[in-house]
Amino acid sequence: AQERYASIRDLPAVTMCGERLHLAMNAGLMADLPSLAGSGAEGVGLFRTELQFLIRNQMPRRSELSALYARVMDAAEGRKVVFRTLDIGSDKVLSYMKPTEEPNPALGWRAIRVGLDKPGVMRMQLQALIRAANGRPLTVMFPFVAQYEEYRAACAEMDKALDRERILGHPIPEPLEVGAMLETPSLAFAPRRFFEEVQFLSIGGNDLKQFFFAADRENERVRRRYDTLNVSFLTFLQGIVDRCTETGTPLSFCGEDAGRPVEAICLAAMGLRTLSMRPASIGPVKSLLMRTDLRALREVIDRARDEGRQSVRDPVMEFLRNQG
Ligand code: PEP
Ligand code: MG
Repeated sequence: AQERYASIRDLPAVTMCGERLHLAMNAGLMADLPSLAGSGAEGVGLFRTELQFLIRNQMPRRSELSALYARVMDAAEGRKVVFRTLDIGSDKVLSYMKPTEEPNPALGWRAIRVGLDKPGVMRMQLQALIRAANGRPLTVMFPFVAQYEEYRAACAEMDKALDRERILGHPIPEPLEVGAMLETPSLAFAPRRFFEEVQFLSIGGNDLKQFFFAADRENERVRRRYDTLNVSFLTFLQGIVDRCTETGTPLSFCGEDAGRPVEAICLAAMGLRTLSMRPASIGPVKSLLMRTDLRALREVIDRARDEGRQSVRDPVMEFLRNQG
């Protein structure tokens, strides 16, 4: 399939109306990295570090992790890699960590909640990342942040890790960027100071949508019940884009919807300019973006919203058919 899009692989993703988008890829295993060049991705917008933990049957050592992260950075050849700290719990359970019985694992003790309550593993991981960077640029993203306090506490861990590495004589990453995933609706309503402080945000659409509609992403009966192009959800996304614009906070979107061409152009019409997706989606998404006038699409979306429609999908599909 990548051959089909080979002619546009090295072209920038510029829409018909002249808007430049940045398309990155999601990854998590070394095996994903060869796709970086082949797909035309401008970097790794989401590196799911938990996958390395999930494929083992014991806790990896810091030296192993740091060697692995260094290989990821080498393979990226200077392109940005956004390393997401361990996102375990919910559907991702480590065999070597005592499983906790929880009535609602998706709403339970997961991701940054584990990282802050039992900071040993997160500290080890942050040190491994700093060492892997060895003075190169480093981007770290904390998952499942639900409130400003959690982001601050996670940053305090990062500061401690930096201090420790400095004392040990290791070089500090330069520049170091620290951000958060926006995947709980609460974070969209965090104080303005949070938006000013966080260096970037990435919308985890899979979780954000699950919590917005209160519909389990793992439950076949309900997971497709609510459309991403639902007017309420798009309005919510618009609010997030507006807050980030006000504070100049870089914003991206890295859920599965970013890799669906129709959803992707609608995200772009709502103001998103950086999308991260599975590598095979980059070609199809770029191809449709290059044929789309976002302003005209936005008019279609706004009109559908004004008409009181539930989802903008039908009018958007009609717009695309007319566009040819
Ligand atoms: C998300 O929630 O959209 C996301 C990108 O993270 P994950 O799918 O790993 O939960
Ligand atoms: Mg998530």
